[in-house]
Amino acid sequence: MTLDIARTVRDLRARTDSWRDAGESIALVPTMGAIHEGHRSLARLASGMADRVVTSLFVNPLQFGPREDFHAYPRDEARDAQVLAEAGSDLLYAPDASEMYPRGFSTAVHVGDLSEDLCGASRPNHFDGVATVVTKLLLQCAPDKAIFGEKDYQQLLVIKRFVRDLNIPVEIIGGPIVREPDGLAMSSRNAYLSAEERKIAPVLHEIIQQAAADLAQGRGADDAAESARFKLEAAGFRVDYVAVRDPETLAPLHGPVTTARVLAAVHLGKTRLIDNMPVPPAG
Ligand code: AMP
Repeated sequence: MTLDIARTVRDLRARTDSWRDAGESIALVPTMGAIHEGHRSLARLASGMADRVVTSLFVNPLQFGPREDFHAYPRDEARDAQVLAEAGSDLLYAPDASEMYPRGFSTAVHVGDLSEDLCGASRPNHFDGVATVVTKLLLQCAPDKAIFGEKDYQQLLVIKRFVRDLNIPVEIIGGPIVREPDGLAMSSRNAYLSAEERKIAPVLHEIIQQAAADLAQGRGADDAAESARFKLEAAGFRVDYVAVRDPETLAPLHGPVTTARVLAAVHLGKTRLIDNMPVPPAG
C-alpha cells in the first residue's frame, strides 16, 4: 500500500478542496513521525470519524529548545507512510521547514496561563512552537476534526484553548494513551532508552497509576503528589514534576479531589518521559 504525499500547502489544498467539493469530511492527525501504535490509533480513530484522513509529518523546529533533540529525533518517512496507509490515512502531508516557515516568518501563537506551567515551565517556548505549527496546520488543511493524543495532555488542552480563543472552525478530539504491554506510554523518544533504562521506564506508569488510585480513595492531592515524587526518585528517575491538577484548567489542587489529572515528567538518563492518568481512573 502506498500513501500519496503532499509537500506544499498548494498540493495539500488541491486534495482537500476536491474532497470538500465532493461533500467529504476531513480529519487531520498531526505527528512528528517515527510512527508507533499511539499514532496509528489516532489515525484509526480519525478514519472512523471522517471520510478522509490527512496525517501530517513535520518535525517542528520551533517546539524544540536549543539543547533538545531536534537533530537526533528519529526520522523514517518511507516506513511512516507505509504504516499510516495501513492505518487508514488517505494523504501524508510532509512539508519541509522552508514551506512551513518561509524566510521572514515572524508570527507566533502564544497561549497564556495554560502554556506556562508544568512542561511549559521546563521547556520555555515549547508550547508557542506547538500552538504556532498547529494553527498553521489547521489553516492549511481546514479539517472538520483534528485528533491529538491524551499522552500529551497539557498540549491537548493548549490546543483546545487557542482553537476556542481564535474561533478556528474545527473540532478537537482527544484519543486515549496507547501503552506497551508493561504500561510504558508509547513514544517516539522511547527509542532513546538503553536496555537498562527500558526496564525502569514502566515504573513511571505504575507510580502515577497508584497515585490516581490513592486519590480516588480520598488521599489528599499534595500528599499523593509528594509520595509519587519520592517513589519516582527512589526508582531512579530525575523528577521534573509530578502534579495533581484540575483536568480542564490544570489549576493546582490540594486536598481531597473528585476529578483530577495526575501528570508527571521525568528524566531517565538522557530521555525525558511524560505520562498522565485520570482520577477517577478510567474503566
Ligand atoms: P508526536 O509525533 O509525538 O508529536 O505525537 C503526535 C500525536 O500522537 C500527538 O497528538 C500525541 O499526543 C499523540 N501520541 C503520541 N504518543 C501517543 C500514545 N502513546 N498514545 C496516544 N497518542 C499518542
